[in-house]
Amino acid sequence: MIIVLDVEQAEADLLAGALTCPHCSAVLRPWSSASARRIRQHDGASRLVRPRRARCSGCQATQVLVPAWCLPRRADAAEVIGAALVAKARGQGYRTIARDLGRPVSTVRRWLRAARGDQVEWLRCQGVRRTFELDQDLLAGLVPQATALGDALCALAAAVLAWRRRFAGHAEAWTVIGAFAAGRLLAPP
Ligand SMILES: [Zn+2]
Repeated sequence: MIIVLDVEQAEADLLAGALTCPHCSAVLRPWSSASARRIRQHDGASRLVRPRRARCSGCQATQVLVPAWCLPRRADAAEVIGAALVAKARGQGYRTIARDLGRPVSTVRRWLRAARGDQVEWLRCQGVRRTFELDQDLLAGLVPQATALGDALCALAAAVLAWRRRFAGHAEAWTVIGAFAAGRLLAPP
């Protein structure tokens, strides 16, 4: 699986032989598509996604190119799960968050349980590392938050800002974060 920030660019790179295998670094070739999935958006609409598949010309392994706005094995977009994490960091409980997002209580509870402990620390580290790489001046602006999750979200927000400054990019914040987290906004089920 490869998380791609810009799907059109990734397709162009794939056709041009510019994408390489994460295992053996040989060139990836286009190889059909994965099955289509419906992903729920923040506004309640669902968006159909059919991720591209690629096959390695070296080790023959196949890779699915997953757009960074959706998360592997999750039926909701990164922006939806991200909104739940922001609400949790503000002190809201899972029942309130579920109601506000129009999602089942059990689903939101599962998300929040997959966003604590080591996972939150890992997210914070990704945010700090990307900020450092892209615009380390922004690290000085990181103010300690009341919770570890708040710290992680602040670091990721700084990384998005740093990315936008560096590349003049316009991708949605949670799409950029999805790419920074390589699709692991939540701990794997
Ligand atoms: Zn390979």
